[in-house]
Amino acid sequence: MTERAKTIVWFRQDLRLTDNQAFAEAARRGAVVPVFILDEITPGVRAWGGASRWWLHHSLNTLSARLGGLARRRGDPAVILPALAKDIGADAIYWNRLYDPGAVNRDAAIKSDLAARGIDARSFNAALLHEPWEIRTGADGPYKVFTPFWRGARALPKAAPARASKFTLADLPASEALASWGLLPQRPDWARGWDKIWTPGEEGAAKRLKAFLRDGLHGYAEKRDRPDIAGTSRLSPHLHWGEVSPRQIWAAAQSAAGEDHALERAAEKFLSEIGWREFAHHLLFHFPEMASRNWRTSFDAYPWRSSAKDLLAWQKGMTGYPLVDAGMRELWATGIMHNRVRMVTASFLVKHLRIDWREGEKWFWDTLVDADAANNAVSWQWVAGSGADAAPYFRIFNPSEQARKFDPDGVYVRKWAPEYGTDAYPAPIVDHAQARAAALAGYDLVRGAGG
Ligand code: FAD
Repeated sequence: MTERAKTIVWFRQDLRLTDNQAFAEAARRGAVVPVFILDEITPGVRAWGGASRWWLHHSLNTLSARLGGLARRRGDPAVILPALAKDIGADAIYWNRLYDPGAVNRDAAIKSDLAARGIDARSFNAALLHEPWEIRTGADGPYKVFTPFWRGARALPKAAPARASKFTLADLPASEALASWGLLPQRPDWARGWDKIWTPGEEGAAKRLKAFLRDGLHGYAEKRDRPDIAGTSRLSPHLHWGEVSPRQIWAAAQSAAGEDHALERAAEKFLSEIGWREFAHHLLFHFPEMASRNWRTSFDAYPWRSSAKDLLAWQKGMTGYPLVDAGMRELWATGIMHNRVRMVTASFLVKHLRIDWREGEKWFWDTLVDADAANNAVSWQWVAGSGADAAPYFRIFNPSEQARKFDPDGVYVRKWAPEYGTDAYPAPIVDHAQARAAALAGYDLVRGAGG
């Protein structure tokens, strides 16, 4: 270690100190200068939605407290990073990789620019079990189907998570006040009470993981489909912001199953969901168009409807279908929605209302605390039938049957749509049988375009 070596650590979606490769390497090298840049400028980099901004505010506060300081800047990282390095005399800048097309392009350009300036610019993997390019088919291409992808990925050796690094903080450059970024909603404060549901930050993530493995893992394979039971980990926003790493989750779940063999099946199922996250990142990295275009281009022929009224009824949870409405209201009230209900609400938008999946993806992007470029777009395309390894289009959920099956006692619906069953509850905005027939007629055009 050189006494005087100073490394900027550019934090992004890796807001933790343990098992953080870029941070650990920087700490080994000398003094660290932690920096977070709110990038709302780079073309192709998507601005955070409202719920993500709420989370980010709190997570940055927590990270800053853990570090003992964090330099915050708003603007273009391509300008800010080299200027900062020059001002403070840092000769290296490290960060952990992201995989969505906007970030990939930006980071590649920044890396080569910094190298040309003689700065040691390096990136690391702290977000995935395996890099998207490490997992290849027999024909040496990317996977398009989950099961063989996960068979391949599952079999690879997993790196053990690293412990928290000892570090020395350098004198920090001037920082912008977090409050000046206006990340929190003001009028109205639609996130009131969210601090009772969520604890953004590394410590909150660790506690949630521990509590889930202790109390929630048992029976996960059966309970995970039931929105009326708290049967899943709710780790998704923590994973999205990198407050916990998939390596930490992998090691902790394996160790829980090792201590109690009755948990083996549940742990395997849980880890396969982490596998879906890996798969979504794999797909988005290899097929960047996945973020905004139909992956199966035959879906370009689908005759989407444009109806601001129906879109609003869906967003507000006023469709007259109780499970759909309960889900959309849960999302608005808490920033999250159960996976089964995400599938039902998304299917309702694209099939019953025949509204383009991109409208739904946009709404989820704005309202979910776990809004994630890869998981969101890939899941929407999966539901719409236009994605890789997608649900067949012609399999159209009946929302009432889904409710009977997964919320058999109506607990979830009563919680989020308490007026259901009274005159105050809206009449269905579409008839299921007619909507189904119209959706299938639309799909005929997709089939005509190659299926
Ligand atoms: P658990 O069941 O405890 O699973 C553990 C972790 O595995 C999750 O935290 C998540 O990181 C990952 N995971 C689970 N299911 C999936 C999946 N189907 N695809 C990818 N990763 C998964 N997930 C997001 O993180 N961000 C999104 O923006 C998002 N948008 C979605 C949109 C639609 C239309 C659908 C159908 C699903 C979406 N999902 C998204 C996937 C899934 O619904 C959530 O990850 C899950 O509900 C989070 O709850 P949990 O943490 O309790 O999950």
